[in-house]
Amino acid sequence: MKEISFSEALSLYLNAPLEELRSMADTARYSHIPQKRVSWQIDRNVNITNACVSGCRFCNFHCKPIEKEKVFVTTLDQYKSKIAEMRRLGGDQLLLQGGLHPDLDIVYYENLFRELKKIEPSLKLNALGPPEIAFISRISGTSCEETLSRLREAGLDTLPGAGAEILSDRVRKIISPGKPTATEWCNVMEIAHKMGIGTTATMVYGHIETMEERMAHLFTIRDLQSRRPEETPGFRAFISWPMQLKGTLLVEMMEERGRQLPRICHGWSEEEEFLRTIAISRIVLHNITHIQASWLTVGLEIAKKSLHYGADDMGSIMIEENVISAAGASNTVTADEMQQAIREEGFEPWLRRQDYSPADPVILRSQAIS
Ligand code: SF4
Repeated sequence: MKEISFSEALSLYLNAPLEELRSMADTARYSHIPQKRVSWQIDRNVNITNACVSGCRFCNFHCKPIEKEKVFVTTLDQYKSKIAEMRRLGGDQLLLQGGLHPDLDIVYYENLFRELKKIEPSLKLNALGPPEIAFISRISGTSCEETLSRLREAGLDTLPGAGAEILSDRVRKIISPGKPTATEWCNVMEIAHKMGIGTTATMVYGHIETMEERMAHLFTIRDLQSRRPEETPGFRAFISWPMQLKGTLLVEMMEERGRQLPRICHGWSEEEEFLRTIAISRIVLHNITHIQASWLTVGLEIAKKSLHYGADDMGSIMIEENVISAAGASNTVTADEMQQAIREEGFEPWLRRQDYSPADPVILRSQAIS
């Protein structure tokens, strides 16, 4: 498929009639996934810890490591009961994320992953985004290659694309000054891809970024994907959602600075912005197979509409999500509601694993029983 240029993409995103954008993205979607099916997943988010030195200004979830009365680190017993509950609901994977805790080094995570695999050997671990990998490497004195290699040996299966927000250091200095830089995020992903570890890419938009920075983010992801070695999965999917700002330090800062959300400057509703962003990501990211409609922040109704704007995947039902919810997202969805939503749009629901292989029929049966 022909690569669209930066200026063409930006002009389309900002100026094309919505229906024109929809039609282009829909054509691109069927060139990747010819079947009239939409994939979805059952997994469980578990936060390893809420202690974090990063202090992102959009994050209501974390606390400082010195706030001892607020800090938690999930215990093995808690993991056991969360895994058992997830299995009852038909899930096979933990999405493990947490803050940047200065006491949790590579040895801690190696032990944790080994213990989790002992509890349930078939369990999949989609764990630790690039900022966490960069941070663990820093405090452990290990290279990123060694960190990833040791974690994979201990049980890491895939790396989520978390912590990308907008890959611009101008933006990151304002919204998340303590977090690893855009270059570090890209380096971790490039190394993971060279090692054959499957990942995803994300974008969190709608705060202080410009439209050019948003588009540059998509092109950075596209370039990274084009550099992955042949026969390796690289980014399996791209996922974008609007930042949730309720009650965050960032919204106070934006108000103080008199900043307006980019979509308001362009006269878009939240729905139009989401649909345009899904569509342009499908058009730009010709080398990534799946575009995911993240329902958590925009709700199921808008997410299912995006299935006609380039998205082919509805992501997970996300049993227990805490980080984005702490900043105002209040949507939830059950497995039945997910499948019904997909059918209502004329697609067949297709339960998948993280690597986009079909989920085990045992999982389907256990879900039907529950
Ligand atoms: S978003 Fe993640 S890295 Fe940033 S403060 Fe929250 S927990 Fe820490």
